[in-house]
Amino acid sequence: MALPTTPHSPGRLVAVQPLKQKRCAACLRGPLSLLVLEDGAPRCLVCADLGHLVFLPRGDTALTRRSREESGLSVVVVRYNRRKSRYERQGVLVEEAALARAEERCLADAEARRRRRARDARRRAAEDDRFAAAFAAEILRLFPGCPVDRARAIAAHASLRGSGRVGRSAAGRALTEGAVISAVVAAVRHVDTPYDQLLMSGVGRFEARRRIASAVDGVLRGWQGAGEDVG
Ligand SMILES: [Zn+2]
Repeated sequence: MALPTTPHSPGRLVAVQPLKQKRCAACLRGPLSLLVLEDGAPRCLVCADLGHLVFLPRGDTALTRRSREESGLSVVVVRYNRRKSRYERQGVLVEEAALARAEERCLADAEARRRRRARDARRRAAEDDRFAAAFAAEILRLFPGCPVDRARAIAAHASLRGSGRVGRSAAGRALTEGAVISAVVAAVRHVDTPYDQLLMSGVGRFEARRRIASAVDGVLRGWQGAGEDVG
């Protein structure tokens, strides 16, 4: 909404926060923090029949819009900015009951948003659970000898939202064999081999991988073969 260039906007009630000390031309009360001009003469809000309104400072757009919608009578409050040579909006005067109703609507909105966020979080958690379950099932299909709790732990770790881990990559989401195998290899490396100790003791990453390669292969072969070995 365009700012009024002057407080005498026709068809629109405007109150002014005066820069100079002013008194009401009718009841002589003053100095006035807020006045309306009637035929060029300052009037206090009471004499202008606006004394029942309450001031809502600018800043909360939704609350302001709703307060004006709810209020049978509303007045724009402006103050002159000398530097910019124009009147600037400071807020609105509205009926107190209208402000209360507007506040309730905004609170209801906030509550609705909170409920929607909670719903979204539950939906994401359910998606994560389904994804981790599918991931674990794929691990067990490729590695039938992998203990079920290990498969679940690897899948849960790889599926963590926002982790940037393999389960969160496009390939992991599509549950490609390559992505599933990478997650299993990473887990075996850290859990079933001295890979982490080697890194901690200063062995370079590639040398550490070389030293544990056969141990990793051994575990993977064991997990791959178990399904065939049994029986
Ligand atoms: Zn007055």
